Amino acid sequence: MLKLIVCIKQVPMVSELPWDSRTGTLKREMAEGMMNPACKHALEAALRIKREYGGHITAMTMGPPMAAEVLYEALTLGADRGVLLTDKQMAGADTMITSFTIARAIEKECPEFDLVICGSQTADSETAQVGPQLAEELNIPCAAYIESLECKDKCLRMTRLSDDFLETLEMDLPGLVTITTRQFRPRYATLSGLEEAFQFSGITTLNAADLGLSPEQIGMKASPTRILDVFSSTAEKKNHVMTGAVKKILEEVFEKFGDKIGSAMEKDLKTHEHSD
Ligand SMILES: Cc1cc2nc3c(=O)[nH]c(=O)nc-3n(C[C@H](O)[C@H](O)[C@H](O)COP(=O)(O)OP(=O)(O)OC[C@H]3O[C@@H](n4cnc5c(N)ncnc54)[C@H](O)[C@@H]3O)c2cc1C
Repeated sequence: MLKLIVCIKQVPMVSELPWDSRTGTLKREMAEGMMNPACKHALEAALRIKREYGGHITAMTMGPPMAAEVLYEALTLGADRGVLLTDKQMAGADTMITSFTIARAIEKECPEFDLVICGSQTADSETAQVGPQLAEELNIPCAAYIESLECKDKCLRMTRLSDDFLETLEMDLPGLVTITTRQFRPRYATLSGLEEAFQFSGITTLNAADLGLSPEQIGMKASPTRILDVFSSTAEKKNHVMTGAVKKILEEVFEKFGDKIGSAMEKDLKTHEHSD
């Protein structure tokens, strides 16, 4: 039986994204939460592994107390246990400290795990760093952006799309994978699943002291990342009007935009050769 851990982040509903302009973080307590889309696919991957090879799934999340909602959702869909990491001192953690904290919780709660499954990225911060950093913290191999999985003798065979190539990878377990939203279409919750999840008392809540972590090791205090500014990007178009003889206009076009045209064509237009 494979011991699986699925890391799930609760993200705010896309329609409600209030920012704290002072700290540059989301005011998540003001927005309704939902399971991050890629985490839904990660959970589905775990559920299929469990069905195919047998397994036990621990769903783990770090966030404010309301993040327990995504654990109930995971239990409804078929996870066996939920672990909520919550503490005011954990707030404001960047990806490095998030990975550090989750790694310590995994070592404490599921030290004998076979596979950690994360989403490839989140819908709110979208750094895609937590999966690989968590593997680094746990000192295990990592394969990111996975789209199919098979397991044989504690060895995973996986595929992923990389540029125009379909790569096949193998990894010995224990290991960590991150899952994209292209495959592993999430299943719907059933009424019987809901009933089981809410009768089930399988959510363990841990704070910093439970993990043996001091305030200096966690949260914003320990996080080296600083958000300097948050803004919405805008796309602008500009018209250039060129007049005169065609030869002169072409020379001007290549002088002004030669680099951009060349990189779009993957050619060095100065030498008329491929840049690589
Ligand atoms: C009290 C408290 C308040 C918090 N407030 C915020 C906040 O306002 N804004 C914010 O963005 N984050 C908040 N966090 C969570 C944490 O800081 C972020 O999860 C972290 O920075 C992740 O970055 P990312 O979204 O770029 O993840 P990515 O690297 O894009 O995530 C990739 C994958 O890593 C896993 N993962 C990422 N984060 C978590 C998590 N927290 N728990 C479990 N798995 C995870 C998921 O599988 C996810 O699909 C809070 C945490 C606590 C304890």
